[in-house]
Amino acid sequence: MQSAHSQFADDQIILLLIESSPQCANNLKAHLTHEAPHGYLVYQSLNELSLDYCLSPSSVIIVCSGRSPDASMSLLTSLKDLCPDNPILVTGSYFDSTPEAALINLGATDYLPACAAKSAAAVMKAVRFCSLTHKHQQEVSNLRNSDPLTSANSRCFFYRYATEQLNPASPSSDHFALLSIDLDGFWRFNTRKGHRSGDQVILEFCQRIHSVIGESGTVARLGQDEFAILLKAPCAADATEIAKATASQLMVTMSEAYQYDEARTFLPCSIGIATTPIPGDLDTLLKNAGLARLSAKKTQASSFVLYDQFLRQNDTREYELEPDVANALRGEQFELYLQPQIAISSGKIVGAEALIRWNHPKQGLVMPAEFIELCERNGMIIPIGYWAIHNAGEQLKTIQALGYEDFRISVNLSFRQFQDIQLVKIIKRILLQNGIQSDLLNLELTESALIRDEQHVSHCLKELADLDVTFSLDDFGTGYSSFSLLQKLPINALKIDRSFIRDITTSTSDAEIVRVIINLAKSLEKEVVAEGVETQEQLEFVRSLGCDHVQGYYYSPPVPMSNFLELLKQHNG
Ligand code: C2E
Ligand code: CA
Ligand code: CA
Repeated sequence: MQSAHSQFADDQIILLLIESSPQCANNLKAHLTHEAPHGYLVYQSLNELSLDYCLSPSSVIIVCSGRSPDASMSLLTSLKDLCPDNPILVTGSYFDSTPEAALINLGATDYLPACAAKSAAAVMKAVRFCSLTHKHQQEVSNLRNSDPLTSANSRCFFYRYATEQLNPASPSSDHFALLSIDLDGFWRFNTRKGHRSGDQVILEFCQRIHSVIGESGTVARLGQDEFAILLKAPCAADATEIAKATASQLMVTMSEAYQYDEARTFLPCSIGIATTPIPGDLDTLLKNAGLARLSAKKTQASSFVLYDQFLRQNDTREYELEPDVANALRGEQFELYLQPQIAISSGKIVGAEALIRWNHPKQGLVMPAEFIELCERNGMIIPIGYWAIHNAGEQLKTIQALGYEDFRISVNLSFRQFQDIQLVKIIKRILLQNGIQSDLLNLELTESALIRDEQHVSHCLKELADLDVTFSLDDFGTGYSSFSLLQKLPINALKIDRSFIRDITTSTSDAEIVRVIINLAKSLEKEVVAEGVETQEQLEFVRSLGCDHVQGYYYSPPVPMSNFLELLKQHNG
């Protein structure tokens, strides 16, 4: 029998005749040799069946026929278990009494009554039908298992494969790491340069992933520019180490430019890593790796983050808070705390940054770190942002009424608020209708807001600057620092991020960065605010570098309005 296998070419159709009646088998053989050079093999029973044939790349059609309808059904069931991917043609002389639907339901591809098996045409038609069905099934299965663009494993394949691998009942004691990787800014690239260029980048991205992973893991494309990599390791510690080393290697490979058409582009990537066994099932593992990837994206371009419980807690907390956010504004649950800004030269409070707090009826005081991002995602930051400007304006008026006439108030403006085309119009209206002195309002924005839509943001800033509203660049030093934008836009002050101030007295590189920022600000004729000043040493250090203003716990944390008024009285008299 084995020697017979080698006589069939891969594209031939092979028939495996199982338990066929001699008469039916003879009929089939006669017609097949006569009509077409197909191969066939005859087995007397299921036990004899060589599964090698079923797994061969040829189109192998199993022809079976039990001695009774029941025998046929049970033979069909066993064959479906043994060779689920092969087409099965059932023959027999009792089909009048066997419902056709029952056979098809059990997995038969087609059936051929014994009387029809006498006709060469009917036999060929059934064989061709089975063969075509098999081909189509394979095409569908290929499509389901591999991604048409990159030929990487598909999402569908990955779910099945990884679920099997992670099955807690499986005897293997392997540990796994899942890497979730995507490109930063791909959506923007794809929209600007078109899908053809986008596809070229994805293809190259995928090839680079494969070049790093090779045979050491399983790669799949899960979404547009999102890939997952499953790595195996003998123990949990190894899984983490292997994943980190792999992520570092991927980072290096992805730092090269991507070629598309005649041009080149650099696109950083972000990687999130989650390991077993802490989250055992695939869904949790994918969610955790995805969450870690988002966290990497927020932290820094081209970086990887290892999932930990803290990330999940944050996520769960946001999830809990989300339904309440919409009612918080209407329910007057938000409050602006004020943190003083001090002029170093005089030691006097010259202004304050208004920082939002949420007095949640059940959860108590909720900090902005827990809900601002969520509001940016769901758009609630737009009405909240207007509320903050309006409320800060009211606080400003109260402070002015107490005699602090030059006092300035700063309000944070999220990048997302620029997506509201009414932004300038509404801010103008708030200022005008409430009699808020616009030259005492300062808006704080981050560098990321500037680069997202340079032209539009620049237009908005200029219109507001015409009303004498001023602007500060927040968290300066952590972002993209486009110096040309700094020159072009009406930015009055730079706020040095508190991460540089924290170690300024011990880290020479941080001290150097702060010195450079202050010099840059001076040469551009902008003011500088040092954020997060907590100690006298830090204050003295920034003073020695020529910094203008400070803000930080050394003077006061953000406090409610009533406490702030006390602070003003103590400080400024
Ligand atoms: P930010 O604009 O960078 O605000 C400064 C943050 O640093 C505040 O955190 C403040 O409490 C904290 N901080 C000030 N001095 C010190 C210090 O000496 N040490 C330490 N460790 N921290 C200090 P907060 O109030 O939790 O606000 C966090 C962020 O939430 C703000 O960062 C801002 O990005 C955002 N945010 C707050 N209020 C609003 C708002 O009304 N609108 C928008 N869009 N964002 C807001
Ligand atoms: Ca700020
Ligand atoms: Ca800041």
